[in-house]
Amino acid sequence: MVIVGDTNFQCDLQNDGFIQLYSLLSAYNINHCDDFITGNNQRVVTYVNESLGQCSFIDHMFVSDTVRQHIMSGVIFDSGANVSDHMQIVYCFQFGSSISASKLVSTRSRSKYHSWRWDKADLSYYYNYSCQFLGDVVLPSVCDCVTGCRDVTHLQSINVYYESIVSALLNAAYSYIPRLPCHSLKPFWSEEFLHNSRLCPLITICPWFMSVN
Ligand SMILES: [Zn+2]
Repeated sequence: MVIVGDTNFQCDLQNDGFIQLYSLLSAYNINHCDDFITGNNQRVVTYVNESLGQCSFIDHMFVSDTVRQHIMSGVIFDSGANVSDHMQIVYCFQFGSSISASKLVSTRSRSKYHSWRWDKADLSYYYNYSCQFLGDVVLPSVCDCVTGCRDVTHLQSINVYYESIVSALLNAAYSYIPRLPCHSLKPFWSEEFLHNSRLCPLITICPWFMSVN
């Protein structure tokens, strides 16, 4: 798990906002990574508002312990192209070859992406069948878990439950929502056509005029 964002508070156990987030995230073995940036004891800031004369370190990344071991470095990156009053936090990870391989596969298959045309679908069919498919999803037997439970069989049950819900929704969508390859539709009124039609109103009335002349 990796969470990055502007929390509006410093990761400081004197801060009420951080104390609340910490109590939630630490139950899942998720912690901030500020130490990669502040490691050399320099004071760092990610937010600077010169007109208000304020600056603070309020943008953070939080990761699971299993991800933390792959972090190589962390820096605050301020470039001339940045027009925000926040600066980017940049972390470098080094993962094993198995993760790189799956990334390559997903890059190659990108050209086959389709977009769902919800606007062309009869949604009543989708609602009926998603309701039916979701009704077939089996509830996991472990429903008395406590927050932060790390029991492997419980975690697997939750994963199976989650995947069943996603699968039910996808099955209904594949059955009743049309799909089109991305970028397969091009506008008929191209920029060139609109430009020419302003010069010659005849083209607007007879589009074939442009192709035969
Ligand atoms: Zn449990």
